[in-house]
Amino acid sequence: MATLRVTVKLISIISRQGAFLNVSFPFDGIGKKPSCTACEKGQVMPELPEVQTIVDDLIGAGIAGRDIVRAEVFWPATVAMPSAPDFLSQLEGQTIHSIQRRGKFIVFQLAGSWILAVHLRMTGRFFIADGAVSPLRHVHVVMAMNDGRVLCFHDTRKFGRFYLTEHTEHLLGALGPEPLSSGFTAQKLRVALGKRKRQIKPLLLDQAFIAGLGNIYVDEALWTARIHPLRQADSLSMVEAKALHAAIRKVLRQGLRNRGTTLGNGQGNFFSLGTARGANEKQLRVFRRTGQPCYRCGRTVQRMIVGQRSTHLCSGCQSDHSAGRV
Ligand SMILES: [Zn+2]
Repeated sequence: MATLRVTVKLISIISRQGAFLNVSFPFDGIGKKPSCTACEKGQVMPELPEVQTIVDDLIGAGIAGRDIVRAEVFWPATVAMPSAPDFLSQLEGQTIHSIQRRGKFIVFQLAGSWILAVHLRMTGRFFIADGAVSPLRHVHVVMAMNDGRVLCFHDTRKFGRFYLTEHTEHLLGALGPEPLSSGFTAQKLRVALGKRKRQIKPLLLDQAFIAGLGNIYVDEALWTARIHPLRQADSLSMVEAKALHAAIRKVLRQGLRNRGTTLGNGQGNFFSLGTARGANEKQLRVFRRTGQPCYRCGRTVQRMIVGQRSTHLCSGCQSDHSAGRV
């Protein structure tokens, strides 16, 4: 029923523009559809390399510079701010001047200080339609461009959120530094770590401490820097802080080069525009390698829960989590 309504509405959008919409649905038939929520627990959220890849692809597809001539919202909860009716009235007619990433947000810069910020959360994705055919299940927001194409937001879990606001600071101001920016130095990281009496893994996942990192790249960075996930942040030495700083940048840059990490073939996985997969999975050193030998020392990679997050480590390389000891 919902699918029918969406299809009819989307077609009606285009018919008002006098164009024929021929949307093909790119995500059907990818892998096996999870049969229950528990099966999807292994999903991972797009992180800096994945979100940046999507931004780069949106720019490459020529979305920046386009006008949004019409938009529709099919699942109002996807729009976190303002209300869905206000969202539509304020968005339609806007020009997308640029597209950037801040943390895990995709930021469409509109007129003046207005932005449309999108957080993909777990399963949010974009695809560009030249036209349309059903089914359009899981498509919750569509934005028709002035070149006849339609930018569609697809989200099976419905956790993705759109924020249309002119108060950028309220939304993005609380984010920590960008780890690949020139301002993010080893010295600054060391000082920031020294003020925190928290376990290092949850701290690195905290977007207010550092922006853009998630479960994959934190596990990879800690393994690369040989730091145990349970180490207290303020116990790290300058040498360790330098190693961590270098490791964070290394794993993120590698993820970027490989256009993100797509794990396996599940439907809830990361894809950039359409069905573009990331190739970083083969480069992962520790994430989701539980039970396999460590690439560095040969010991078995272990999995533990840290701050309610599945965490992968090598007890050989990342051996001691006592404060102040390495
Ligand atoms: Zn090891």
